[in-house]
Amino acid sequence: MSAESRKADQERPPTARVFFALRPPEALVGTLADVARHAAERLGGRPTRCDTIHLTLAFLGDVPVDDLPVLQAIGDSVQCSRFTLRIDRLGYWQHKRLLWAGMSDVVDGLRDLHRQLQGALAASGYRSDSAAHGFAPHITLVRHMPSGGADSKVTGAGNLHPLDWPCSNFFLFKSDLHSSGPDYAILQTYSLA
Ligand code: ATP
Ligand code: MG
Repeated sequence: MSAESRKADQERPPTARVFFALRPPEALVGTLADVARHAAERLGGRPTRCDTIHLTLAFLGDVPVDDLPVLQAIGDSVQCSRFTLRIDRLGYWQHKRLLWAGMSDVVDGLRDLHRQLQGALAASGYRSDSAAHGFAPHITLVRHMPSGGADSKVTGAGNLHPLDWPCSNFFLFKSDLHSSGPDYAILQTYSLA
């Protein structure tokens, strides 16, 4: 690295990679991590570890560390009721080469939480990725699957015994990326009414 680029790096304000997400109760985390591990053993790819199982509500990416108090307050401004998700299907996205767990029916409570969060972020000048591309709620189970991925023997209805997930809070997470996989840390916890 040249002296100039080192200097430019030092002058850049520190950032954090952040996202809002739901995190399942520990028993459900264990079940989903088991499904992920078994699928990766069978099909290849990197299974999501227990500590990083989540459902993203809004991905902000790298933001200045100085913005974190504002983002924390945005989460506080959301007023939503608790809801229960029924995780009942597996899916595979070829373009991202990932296997995910999701819902046949997306309940209104989750849509409302997503909408409110996006609205509060937009009102403060933040643009999250799912605002641009639509909301596709999912829990990533396996990443970097070999090409070919998962076929209809693995995905679709009937391949996941339905799991009920009572959601009573959501979180602001910080993500640190490593070659072995990301580390997440909870920056803030928010309660649903
Ligand atoms: P890795 O990138 O090492 O595979 P990861 O995807 O779990 O790990 P992050 O990239 O920090 O970690 O992503 C955190 C969450 O935000 C994940 O749910 C991820 O799918 C989502 N996410 C990441 N990048 C984007 C993006 N550009 N648009 C929408 N969501 C994203
Ligand atoms: Mg990623």
